[in-house]
Amino acid sequence: MQKIIAANWKMYKTRPEARETAADLYRLLIAEPLSDRRVIVFPSFTNIPDVQEAFAGESTVTVGAQNFYPAAEGPFTGEISLDMLLDLGISQVLTGHSERRHLLGETDDFVASKTALALAGGFSVMLCIGETLAEREAGNLAEVLSSQLRTALPELQGDALSRLTVAYEPIWAIGTGKVAGPAEVLAAHAEVRSLVARIVGDAGRGIPILYGGSVKPGNASMLLGLDNVDGLLVGGASLDVQSFLQIIKA
Ligand code: PEP
Repeated sequence: MQKIIAANWKMYKTRPEARETAADLYRLLIAEPLSDRRVIVFPSFTNIPDVQEAFAGESTVTVGAQNFYPAAEGPFTGEISLDMLLDLGISQVLTGHSERRHLLGETDDFVASKTALALAGGFSVMLCIGETLAEREAGNLAEVLSSQLRTALPELQGDALSRLTVAYEPIWAIGTGKVAGPAEVLAAHAEVRSLVARIVGDAGRGIPILYGGSVKPGNASMLLGLDNVDGLLVGGASLDVQSFLQIIKA
């Protein structure tokens, strides 16, 4: 199975910087094509056209959007709709990222409405879930994952399921340099796998589950070797071409 390696560029990079990073990555990927990897890059909205242009013709790379507002249109100043993303040729979006949940106030219900609208609109969705350190230490990991998944994935079927990816990102490991250990990742991914199958049925067994949280060139290969880890969602280490390329090749 192809592993998915996704880059979340968050609110980093000006247009020239994004263009240069994407062009360098394109050159390096063309030089050494990897048939067992699929790359997804989530740049900021303003950098999407430049990054798309840099990867034009490279079918192993998809450019996605980090965010959108769950309404067709309306008085939502500063927001961007799914139709506006479609205009740009975007069909992959991210939902539920912990920074949007915890810094920008998105609730489980709001994440669910975004996920449902995007899937209904034919988009591919990477749904992020994960627990805080306090939730983990209180022994609530399974409950938190279950509640986030049950709210976001009610009654999904067939085609929508084939466009869903789940990213397990323990919040205490995002941008902190603390990576979850192999035992923690194994246990959480097994839990996510069985929860998804319980919520959406057996068809859910094929849904890719990515790990995210301080992934670096030095731990990527270990993480990719674990059961139920179908890929990686990378923040900080995806901003630098060489480190992201090492993770892609890990
Ligand atoms: C992320 O933003 O999804 C992430 C995992 O960030 P980092 O790799 O920097 O921890």
